[in-house]
Amino acid sequence: KASPRVLDGVKIAAEIKAEVAEEVKRAVAAGYTPGLAVVLVGNVAASQIYVRSKVKTCAELGIYSEMHTPDESVTTEELLKLVEELNARPEIDGILIQLPLPKHVDTQRLLDAVHASKDVDGFHPLNAGRLMNGTDPKDLLAPCTPAGIMEVLQRSGIPVAGANAVVVGRSNIVGKPAAAMLINASATVTVCHSRTKDLAKFTREADILVAAIGRPGFVTADMVKPGATLIDVGINRLTDDAEVHQFFPEGHPDRETRLEGFAKRNSTVIGDIEPAAFLKSGAYTPVPGGVGALTIAMLMSNTVKAARMRRGK
Ligand code: NDP
Repeated sequence: KASPRVLDGVKIAAEIKAEVAEEVKRAVAAGYTPGLAVVLVGNVAASQIYVRSKVKTCAELGIYSEMHTPDESVTTEELLKLVEELNARPEIDGILIQLPLPKHVDTQRLLDAVHASKDVDGFHPLNAGRLMNGTDPKDLLAPCTPAGIMEVLQRSGIPVAGANAVVVGRSNIVGKPAAAMLINASATVTVCHSRTKDLAKFTREADILVAAIGRPGFVTADMVKPGATLIDVGINRLTDDAEVHQFFPEGHPDRETRLEGFAKRNSTVIGDIEPAAFLKSGAYTPVPGGVGALTIAMLMSNTVKAARMRRGK
C-alpha cells in the first residue's frame, strides 16, 4: 500500500500569505493599506498567544494592525462603543474580536455589531447567510478555519465534487460553515455531532472526513475508510505521558519524535483523529502543521479581501 500523503498546512499557508503580500503591494500602489483592528479582552493566555501571532503576521505581510486591550471588567456597552468607533474609521478594514470573551459580556450582540463589511472572522449573520446562499467564495467573508480546510482540499487537488464528506462537529465556528462550504463545492455532506447514533457507520462512508470535535484521538482507525482524506481540525494538548504512549504505540513511525518532544516540553499536541488512523488514509492533515496553520493565513486573506470589497474593487 502506498503511504498516505501528508497535506502540509504550513506550506499551503506560506503560499497563501505570499499571495496576500502581493495583493497588499497592489493595494498600496493603488493608494491604500489594508488595516486590521484586534480586540483582546482580559488576559487569557491562549488568546494572547493567538493575537500576538495575528498582529505579527499582519506586519510580515504589510497589513496595518492595531490592538485594543480592554480590561477584563469592561462592559458590553463599552465594547459596543469601541466596535462602533472601529466601524466608523475608514482605514480599518477588518475588526476581529478575539474569543472567548468574559462571561458577563454578550458575545453575540458584539459579533452582530461588527459591520458585515469588516467582519473578517465571518461570524456576522449576514455573512453566515451569504455562505448558506452559495455566494461566490471570492465575494464572501467566510470563517477562517473552514475556509482553510477548503484551501487545503483545493490546493492539494483532492476531488470534492461528488465526494462523500462527513463533518463531525456542528459548531458555528467550524463544523457548520465547513459543511456549508462542502455543499457549495458539490460534496454530498453528512454532519454528525454528540447526538448522532452509530457515528462510525457514517464516518466509514467518508471519502473526506472532517473532525472538529475537541477530543484527543476521538476518531479511531476502525472508523475510517481506507484511502480516505482526513482533515483534522482538533487541537488537544496531551500532558500525560501514558496518553502519548497510547496514541503513539511501539512501531508507530512518529513515536520517537513525539516522545522526544514530550520529554522536552512536558506536553505534545494531537488532533481529534487518532494518529493510527492517518496510517490507513490516502491523505491527511497532521496536527500540528495542518489546518491550524491556515487559520491565520485566511484571516489575512479576509482582511485584504474586505479592504478590496469596501472600495468596490
Ligand atoms: P465546539 O466544542 O464548539 O464543538 C464541538 C463539536 O463536536 C460539537 O458540535 C459537538 O456536538 C461535537 N461532539 C462533541 N463530542 C462528540 C462526540 N462524542 N461525538 C460526536 N460529536 C461530538 O468546538 P469547535 O468547533 O470550536 O472546535 C473543535 C476543535 O477544533 C477543538 O479541538 C478546537 O480546539 C479546534 N479548533 C481549531 C482551530 C484551528 O485553527 N485549527 C480553530 C477552531 C477550533 P454537540 O453540538 O452535539 O455538542
